Amino acid sequence: MTIIRPAIFGPGDGVIAAMSTRNGGVSGPALDLNISFRVGDDPENVRENRRRFFEVAGVAASSVVLPGQEHTDVVRYCTGPSVQPSCDGLVTDGTSAVLGVTVADCTPVLLFDPRRRVIAAVHAGWRGTAAGIVRRALDMMAERWRCEPSELKAFVGPSAGGCCYEVGTDVAARFPAECAVPKDGGKFLLDVKRTNVLQMLASGMQESHIEVHPDCTIHNELYHSYRRDGLVSGRMAAVIGLIH
Ligand SMILES: [Zn+2]
Repeated sequence: MTIIRPAIFGPGDGVIAAMSTRNGGVSGPALDLNISFRVGDDPENVRENRRRFFEVAGVAASSVVLPGQEHTDVVRYCTGPSVQPSCDGLVTDGTSAVLGVTVADCTPVLLFDPRRRVIAAVHAGWRGTAAGIVRRALDMMAERWRCEPSELKAFVGPSAGGCCYEVGTDVAARFPAECAVPKDGGKFLLDVKRTNVLQMLASGMQESHIEVHPDCTIHNELYHSYRRDGLVSGRMAAVIGLIH
């Protein structure tokens, strides 16, 4: 099984984080390691894929919380593994919830405050990113725990890259010009990862505290991609949890 380990969170940080890929699952050649129940996969396979990934990642499956994910900019405080509908970001300061998001092209952003011991997991597709969801998470961390953005660390995971992610004028217009590069045919190449980085920098985070994974999910078949594979595409999970 191939998994992604954020390097920005060191082993001594008291936090554990990982992201699954397409590799190492039981759902056949196309879906392989799919962790979503919503893509037509056999639920037994999904349960087994989740069990395998969480085991390799080193997190307790019973602690993992996933938001409902409706492409909103809503971030919720979460204290335990309960269902979290109608939101796309989760924040916690406890060890009883491992926060996760599911993605295939959308950008997962994991946040960690080493001093106040607060974490967040954010599902930042183009809609959530355009609405500034990562700023919502940073705002909540600042208001509730007095987190200082300059002390926070972030991981921006593999997702649709500026090399491949083609969008129309309507979408491009909602992004900074440097992150929506015009190409032929009135289309634009969108860099959602960079847009999230710019939002974090504008909130006061330090660039050296932000790890941006270089991989693009659309052209790299190690990953699931909705843009590439359409309806027969699985989902990956990015998770983060505080260690006791
Ligand atoms: Zn690409």
